[in-house]
Amino acid sequence: MQKSYILPFPITYAMAATILDGKALAREIRDNLRKQVKSLTEKPGLAVITVGNDPASQLYVGGKEKAGIGAGYHFVWKKYKEDTDEITLLSEIDKLNQDKKIHGMIVQSPLPKHLSPFLIIDAIRQEKDADGFHPLNLANLFLGRDAILPATPKGIMRILEHYNIPLAGKHAVVIGRSKIVGKPIAFLLLQKDATVTMCHSMTADLAALTRQADIIVAAVGKAWLVKKDMVKQGAVVIDVGMNKKGDKIIGDVAYDEVKEVASAITPVPGGVGPMTIAMLLENTLKCMEVQ
Ligand code: NAD
Repeated sequence: MQKSYILPFPITYAMAATILDGKALAREIRDNLRKQVKSLTEKPGLAVITVGNDPASQLYVGGKEKAGIGAGYHFVWKKYKEDTDEITLLSEIDKLNQDKKIHGMIVQSPLPKHLSPFLIIDAIRQEKDADGFHPLNLANLFLGRDAILPATPKGIMRILEHYNIPLAGKHAVVIGRSKIVGKPIAFLLLQKDATVTMCHSMTADLAALTRQADIIVAAVGKAWLVKKDMVKQGAVVIDVGMNKKGDKIIGDVAYDEVKEVASAITPVPGGVGPMTIAMLLENTLKCMEVQ
């Protein structure tokens, strides 16, 4: 007689999460940009303005400079002292707006408190707004028109596309409602027919919402805010957070425990961060084409 085996039910198979390797994808994009730039008669020019000596900003701009020069860009870093006034900064932006060798520019945040970020960003010519923060570029994004997109959300969409992650009909929960990440990524996901829930510091029961999510985007700036018990089995988790812990950078997601339940996850570092820089370079080339 044949033996029958009764298996315990339900059986859960722990599948290893796919690591969404933004570092490798960004390298591939930068390599392609380098080839494209080589074939051009003129180099794309990117200018970065910093005000003050915020250590994190120095580090980020250093990364942008290295990547820009590596891809064959003309890179200019305009460094201003902490006490620089608005008039000085606006006249620098005006000069860069007219400089034929500069196709894209960004003003690195955070700015010192005495400077109005709105006034500064509004002064950048829309066609030179490599960060995609100008109100007209954000309006185009909102309207679903062709736009220079903010680099970080654009990088997230590129990761999702590269790894063939389906979005239509999926429930995406975005944590954080900043102008540079949370709000634009929500609109981009919406454009791909995801159903989007936006959460923020006043959201009543964050975990109840994230537990329903097929896709979670965490852009908060709070180390390991998203824990394993907040994530549905098989969800895709995108970690935008960059939080300092000693000499390490850690994300908004408790990576080691969440990767046990997620089907795919971005690491920090090596996920969204490198894609932001690659998208900034791509945007600069787009600015050049538009001009
Ligand atoms: P922000 O600092 O402007 O705003 C944070 C958002 O988080 C707010 O909308 C707030 O409502 C929300 N929030 C705060 N506490 C919360 C809580 N307990 N629950 C739910 N929501 C909460 O945001 P930002 O500028 O988008 O930055 C967010 C994080 O992303 C930071 O760590 C930043 O360093 C990082 N970042 C990384 C990149 C990258 O390239 N990887 C780019 C931009 C920002």
